[in-house]
Amino acid sequence: MLLKRFDLHRPATLPALFELIDRFGEDAAVYAGGTELLIALKARVLHYPHLIDLKAISSLGAIALEDDHLVIGALATHHRIATDKLVQRVLPAYAELSNNIANIRVRCAGTLGGNLCFAEPHADPPALLAALGAKLRLQSLAGNREVAMADFIHGDFETDRQPGEILSHILLPLPQANQRAAYRSYGAGERPVAGGAAAVELEHGICRSAALWIGAVAGRPLPLPETAAALIGLRQSELLPALETTLTAEIGAIDIFDDAHGSADYKRHLAATMLRRALAAALTQPEANHA
Ligand SMILES: Cc1cc2nc3c(=O)[nH]c(=O)nc-3n(C[C@H](O)[C@H](O)[C@H](O)COP(=O)(O)OP(=O)(O)OC[C@H]3O[C@@H](n4cnc5c(N)ncnc54)[C@H](O)[C@@H]3O)c2cc1C
Repeated sequence: MLLKRFDLHRPATLPALFELIDRFGEDAAVYAGGTELLIALKARVLHYPHLIDLKAISSLGAIALEDDHLVIGALATHHRIATDKLVQRVLPAYAELSNNIANIRVRCAGTLGGNLCFAEPHADPPALLAALGAKLRLQSLAGNREVAMADFIHGDFETDRQPGEILSHILLPLPQANQRAAYRSYGAGERPVAGGAAAVELEHGICRSAALWIGAVAGRPLPLPETAAALIGLRQSELLPALETTLTAEIGAIDIFDDAHGSADYKRHLAATMLRRALAAALTQPEANHA
């Protein structure tokens, strides 16, 4: 189907962007790579008389260290993140995730900000970002605010983003030397059917903290706090066997949806398998290197 007519705006600065957002209100949508928005516009699921291309605002694409955070601009594409030396060095698990998203065409055009703001439930980044304790910076004419990744996605295609706000940066706490993380997902088609993210902190071989999340199986990424708590105080060699004690019961109680990717039971099984694999991979990760 052909796109309906729209006017295209290409602001080069944040003040120019917010002037356009203020002027057109709900008649306008911002976009970055367009990999999601264009599909929805072509299918006529969405229509906006004005589209605002964010790509000329260079400050939204940078990747840098800021105090004790790795800060990724919302316009950074998955490919850029996957191949960025800084991300590879300080958060190799996130670089690896980015390298496995979709295909090279989508990775080169699609941005992390677009992935998070669209909130298509079959997505990889949210579960690992939540396990890593990421925060999202939202900007609007009213100012800036930060929201935890864990709270940003409310459900299918629904986020905490308010009208007039854009996602500007994703802030990841720099892991301590003894923290390890990994993400594993399974997808039969283009998008993940289930994903599991594990982040653990080991001190002299003893687990001091753990964050376990599953993704792509419900409207939002989901934590497994009981399973994570059961790992605290255990030796590294005990962690994988200990996972089984609570994992099946905790995943079994989660409201997972049936969809074209599979039944809820199938996806529960897959999510548990991906989580086991993520924890096993995290335990073999090298120590973080911020030097
Ligand atoms: C074929 C295919 C395969 C895919 N496979 C995977 C996969 O395996 N794993 C995975 O995780 N994802 C997958 N995706 C999703 C992909 O990651 C997203 O399409 C991409 O990241 C979206 O980024 P974009 O810049 O193109 O977003 P756009 O299409 O430009 O925007 C998407 C939405 O977000 C809004 N938006 C964009 N940027 C901002 C911002 N900075 N602030 C506020 N709102 C904003 C737009 O208004 C729009 O509503 C796949 C997509 C396709 C098409």
